[in-house]
Amino acid sequence: MVQEQLLSRDIFDKRTIKAMSEVPRHLFVDDAMRGRAYGDHPLPIGAGQTISQPYIVAYMTQALHLQGDEKVLEIGTGSGYQAAILSRMCDKVYTVERVDSLLAEARRIFDKLRYYNIRSKLDDGTLGWAEYSPYDAIIVTAGGPTIPQPLIDQLADPGRLIIPVGDQHVQVLQLLEKKEGKVEVTNLAGVRFVDLVGEYGWDK
Ligand code: SAH
Repeated sequence: MVQEQLLSRDIFDKRTIKAMSEVPRHLFVDDAMRGRAYGDHPLPIGAGQTISQPYIVAYMTQALHLQGDEKVLEIGTGSGYQAAILSRMCDKVYTVERVDSLLAEARRIFDKLRYYNIRSKLDDGTLGWAEYSPYDAIIVTAGGPTIPQPLIDQLADPGRLIIPVGDQHVQVLQLLEKKEGKVEVTNLAGVRFVDLVGEYGWDK
């Protein structure tokens, strides 16, 4: 997976590659899908949601420029795989999921792997997680119509936020950088994510 899907493309960050090599992706998918866990595609994880393609996970992670001492907020825990990758690369991960059954399963795997620097909660993540803010980096793994303002507010300065923004079919990955009180948004790549549902996302 790392050689064929990441190194052969544009994933060069050593810490991203190391985390992607270490985290057992097959544990984050259903037994019936184990054989396809390392394939170059997303997979269903139940409740109509998906675990992102390995390359997209690596691409978004690399864009955060993590050094190891950061506090990172993830919106959309899903299978827990992206949070697990982040947890190997920063100090603490806070992750929010709105579907109870997915969060319960992700927590079970975090415990099994002893990834104890991940804290999670069931909530509408478009509101962020004010209690532990500001965050050095924020990653949203579901697509919304705009960048939720609470997330911009809860981002540290300097800080980096990555999110798919668009309609409910296609989105563009946007990187928002906060620096010296200013905010700059860059369009990265075209992507397809499941809906970000919530107060600052799509209606149910
Ligand atoms: N990062 C996940 C990707 C899961 S797909 C992984 O590695 O597997 C996106 C997830 O976002 C879904 O589980 C969906 O339920 C969740 N989601 C959508 N809107 C949300 C919201 N407002 N708050 C929290 N989670 C949300």
